[in-house]
Amino acid sequence: MTDPPRTANGTHPKQELERLARNLRLRLEGEGRAGLAAVGRIPETAPRATEMAPRATEPGAEDPGDANLEPLPEARAAEAAKRELDAAVAARAPAPSAEAPPADAPPARQERAPAVHVKGPGLFDDSSPDLEAGVSKEEALQRIVKEVAACRRCPELAAGRTNTVPGQGDPNAQLMFIGEGPGADEDLQGVAFVGRAGQLLTKMVAAIEMTRDEVFIANIVKCRPPSNRRPEPEECANCAPYLARQIEIIRPKVIVALGGTAAQYLLQTHDGITRLRGRFYPYMGAKLMPTFHPAYVLRNYVPDTRKKVYNDLKMARAELGA
Ligand code: URA
Repeated sequence: MTDPPRTANGTHPKQELERLARNLRLRLEGEGRAGLAAVGRIPETAPRATEMAPRATEPGAEDPGDANLEPLPEARAAEAAKRELDAAVAARAPAPSAEAPPADAPPARQERAPAVHVKGPGLFDDSSPDLEAGVSKEEALQRIVKEVAACRRCPELAAGRTNTVPGQGDPNAQLMFIGEGPGADEDLQGVAFVGRAGQLLTKMVAAIEMTRDEVFIANIVKCRPPSNRRPEPEECANCAPYLARQIEIIRPKVIVALGGTAAQYLLQTHDGITRLRGRFYPYMGAKLMPTFHPAYVLRNYVPDTRKKVYNDLKMARAELGA
């Protein structure tokens, strides 16, 4: 067999092609990063494209866009769940509790969490059952942590989790971030947004001159969905009371919904995040700003996306005052 022809510098043509492709990729990446640094402040040291994680490790990466205008089954189911929740609130249902019932207690009638009103103004009137009991915010949030740790409302999620991820941060935070649900890193550590998307979130928070300790970070669902699939509507509905109680206790001025899943669930809409983002919506006495999920930003790491997120966050920050 004769040797294939060599290139001018003596390498095999295939190797030469690979080398050129590698150089080109590195150059484009370098230019992309320089361009991003010039556009805004999120973030100047983002992971390189070659380090970015696929959806399998990053919930929130696949934001639905505005092309997705068909009513989502999630939105319909969430609407139904909300009606159910509202009806139960009207009947003054008690808040969910992790405490074991007495041995002679009648069997629970349903697995679904008792309702907490999850939307609309007027909730910040000290009517939260957690605060009514005269406990501090820290203690009230800690109760939720314990309840979530014992929660088995979503059998599939409960069976697959390593840790629950209730959310963490300042109980008096003026700014709250809400993502979709824990990924692999969060599941391992029991802390929200600590993976690659979480690292970008940290930089996003820093870009508005705040730290993670000053905000509260949580998710729609507190357990990792298998393979990081989107949480099912029923799982969101099961978990919603915990989040609603967290919001009632913390009373943030501004909530940033990270990504389409969180924004759509909270706002009960099927509009895509591209359409929703960039303006405020009233939500539980706070102003809710939808923006792109950091995992989506990582996968679409172009100046336009990055600038939009930065603008959204600046608007959120401006609402907090000095
Ligand atoms: N993505 C989310 O939506 N939440 C996390 O906690 C981590 C990644």
